This record gives sequence, C-alpha cells and structure tokens, in this order.
Amino acid sequence: PSPIKMTSQRPFPADDFRVYCVLAECADYDSLPESETQPHFQGVTGLRNLGNTCYMNAILQCLCSISPLVEYFLSGKYITALQKDCSDVTTAFAYLMTDMWLGDSECVSPEIFLSALGSLYPAFLKKTQQDAQEFLIYVLNELHEALKKHCQRRAHEKKSAQRCCRKVMASETSIITRLFEGQLSYSITCLKCENCTYRNEVFTVLSLPIPSEYECSLQDCLQCFFQQDTLTWNNQIHCSFCEIKQETAVRSTISKAPKIIVFHLKRFDIQGTVKRKLRTDVRYPLTNLDLTPYICPIFRKHPKYNLCAVVNHFGDLDGGHYTAFCKNAVTQAWYSFDDTRVSEIPDTSVQTATAYLLFYSCQPFSIPIQTRKS
Ligand SMILES: [Zn+2]
Repeated sequence: PSPIKMTSQRPFPADDFRVYCVLAECADYDSLPESETQPHFQGVTGLRNLGNTCYMNAILQCLCSISPLVEYFLSGKYITALQKDCSDVTTAFAYLMTDMWLGDSECVSPEIFLSALGSLYPAFLKKTQQDAQEFLIYVLNELHEALKKHCQRRAHEKKSAQRCCRKVMASETSIITRLFEGQLSYSITCLKCENCTYRNEVFTVLSLPIPSEYECSLQDCLQCFFQQDTLTWNNQIHCSFCEIKQETAVRSTISKAPKIIVFHLKRFDIQGTVKRKLRTDVRYPLTNLDLTPYICPIFRKHPKYNLCAVVNHFGDLDGGHYTAFCKNAVTQAWYSFDDTRVSEIPDTSVQTATAYLLFYSCQPFSIPIQTRKS
C-alpha cells in the first residue's frame, strides 16, 4: 500500500490552514484553487485494511467521529500537550485524523499509525484478528500517556460529597481522561455487622453483561451491571470490623459520568474451555439514553446521552469482521464504515444485533471544522 497522503486540495479556514501546514510540514497552499469540488464529506473517509486490521479501522472511525477529540487534534492543541519525548503514536494519530477530516482522498491508509503502535505492542503487527475493545484501550492509554499533564491538587479541595461519592482527584489529566474517564463507586457492606466501606475505581469502558440469549435492551444490561451483588462462599470479603471473611453485598454507582461513555457488550462468553458468542439482539436508543438511575445523585449533571458511534462484530470468536457506524458532526447523518467501503445509512439501520461497542456522548454535536465561507 502507498504511504499516507499528506496533502490536500481543499481550502481551509485560516486557523486550520496554519495547523494543517504544521502537521503536513509542507506545501505551498497559496497557489491552491479557491473552489475545489468536494469529492467526499469531511470525516467520511474509508480506511485501507492492512491484513486483518478491520478491528483497528472500526475503532479509528469511531474515535474520528467524536467531535471534541477531532477538534483537539485538528486545532493543533495536542502539539503543546505532547510530552518532551515525542510520541510517534500520537503524531501518527493526529496525521491520520487530519487526513480523514481535511484530506481529499476517499480512502487513506493507517499504515504509519499501525507501525507506530506496533513498535510498542508487537501483537498488533502480526496481522491476526484482535479484539476491538482491547485495541481501543491500548490506543486511549497511549494517547493519554503522551498528552497527560500533572495537575496540582487544590489545597481547598471541596470536602463536599458524601463518603460514597468522593471523587478521586486524578493527578494526571489529558484530553482522553477529560472525555472518556468516568468513576465507579462501590459500596461494600458486611452482611453480618452491616459495616460499610467504599471503594472507587476509574473506568474508560464499561463491560456490560448481556442478560438474555435472544433479545434485551441496553437498560437491561445496565441494570444487570449495577444490581447489587452478594458475595458468598469463596468470594467472601474480609470485614475489618468482624476481622474475618464475611458474606458481603456489593453495589456500584457512577460517581463521575464521562462526557463520552463507551459500553462494551460482553458477547464473548468464555467459561473454562467452552467459548461462545452471544448473538443477542441488544436494543439501544439513538438518543436520550438515561443514565440517571445509575449515577450518584449529587453528580447527575449530564444524565442524557446520544449515540455517536457503534462497532459491529460479525462472525465468531476466532474469526470475524468488524465494521463501524458513525454519526458525522458536519452532515449529521450516519455512515457505515467497512474498511474502504463507506456509505450513508438511515438512522433506522443503526440498530443491529451485531453491535459490540457503543459510544454515547452527553454533549451536543458540534461541527469540528468549518469550511471557509467565500
Ligand atoms: Zn462485618
């Protein structure tokens, strides 16, 4: 495959123009024609398959449809945030996103991004099928590590919040934590003495159990995830008050809801040596997903979420194919991305039984880049 195409014929608004020049380190844009026809919409760009890399393409399409993330990279903000030891993965990601949003090709190659990531995680170079959810976590971690900033704990940090909902102040933040990081609070109650302790845990992806073989709703999965669990027998937890292991009730709530919440539907069920894929038709809303019941009351700021991207998985555990459905911030339409094949789809086609990852956003969609008005 040919290397990523880094030039574009499209006119840009002044700011993006400058940024793009920095990114592309090239080009004499002054001589560009003013009115170039648009061969395709911004951000609606196919990705070449580099040998079983559909898992990567599906994830990249989803990330490239999240407008605050697109805005962050296309505006060049990432350049100032980059740590001194420059991250090849982050730079390649920014170049790729720029090509997908500002380039004039209908299709680009994620080759440089893959080789940057593969130099850190050689498993991704083996050209074997990988799990899209795991891949997403690797990419988010990598971007976070490159872009994180230490932030000082404020001395007068609010002592608000009940114990159960105390926010763990992250010491390092990045665009990734600001968009994707949420926090769960677990209450752990000893069923003997009723002593209750709390534990917090940050998350970027929520892995939801699927409570039915055939059909259920996303709310059913969420209810199943957030229902109280009783730990008995081997799973008993040590109670510091009783000083022995006791039966325990565990319950979790969201104490910090992320701006972008990613749900992983646990379709791959592995029990001992028996592996199977659940083909349950999980029904999920495109708009107004209500997370209120699961969010700790004092943090219910953005309870309504709208779907912005879906990763689909076809086939079985050992082989299969990934595609993505993404809502484009400019056209407000949904597109299906199957490697290089891209097509607009009606809203009614976004709901399918192949959904594997769901990306919901609590922010209204904005247009990441505005084309110059002439
Ligand atoms: Zn106890």
